[in-house]
Amino acid sequence: MAKRHPIIAGNWKMYKTVSEARDYAVKLLEKVGDITEVDVVICAPFTALSTLKDELEESIVHLGAQNMSWALEGAYTGEISPKMLTDLACTYVVLGHSERRELMRETDEDIAKKVKLALSSGLIPILCVGENLTQREGGRALGIVRGQVERDLADLSAEELARVVIAYEPIWAIGTGKTASSQDAQDMCAGIRSTLAGIAGSVADEVKILYGGSVKPDNIAELMSKPDIDGALVGGASLDPDGFSKLIMNAIEGVRK
Ligand code: PEP
Repeated sequence: MAKRHPIIAGNWKMYKTVSEARDYAVKLLEKVGDITEVDVVICAPFTALSTLKDELEESIVHLGAQNMSWALEGAYTGEISPKMLTDLACTYVVLGHSERRELMRETDEDIAKKVKLALSSGLIPILCVGENLTQREGGRALGIVRGQVERDLADLSAEELARVVIAYEPIWAIGTGKTASSQDAQDMCAGIRSTLAGIAGSVADEVKILYGGSVKPDNIAELMSKPDIDGALVGGASLDPDGFSKLIMNAIEGVRK
């Protein structure tokens, strides 16, 4: 089996104006503009994508969005279609982030439609799954995450499934400073891979599974050294280009371990 190439993806959430995004891109490229050991992705607000397309064009940094519509186009006021994202050179789109599931009431049904449409539109979905604290403390974490994976990836062909990236993000670890232990993160990522194997056999070995939840420059190397963790989705620690560059360099160290 070919080794899965790791991904370090930053999720800026609802931060950064156009000019802040431009300054960030310049600084990031100065620091990590020629690395090849991991794929670097910036998932930015829609409003910053056009500027980032110009700044990052022909660089090693890939561009992603943080959401998209389940429709290709039409009378959906306020929505953004996958066609609009590919037109802005996006290659990735975060789908099913817990903030959208919880605050915007997105359902697994919505997310499954978005995943399918992203794939048919040429985007790589970064599908977020994860349990909350009550579910973890009740010993239900694996069952909850398995259910999300099965529902959100329903009806995909094996070829489509191989292109999906999954981010395991325990909700209690997002933005809280509490990281899952690297062993707990590994166990869940292995559980996700075995769920995928149940759906599509050996294709599961090709799917990249990231960990997300208070990832920082000082805990990334340990996470990256685990066999089923193929990278990270990073929120708060991706907002500063110097800190994010350090995190990327430390991730490369972890891969080499
Ligand atoms: C996220 O937003 O996906 C995330 C993991 O946030 P943080 O790194 O800040 O916990």
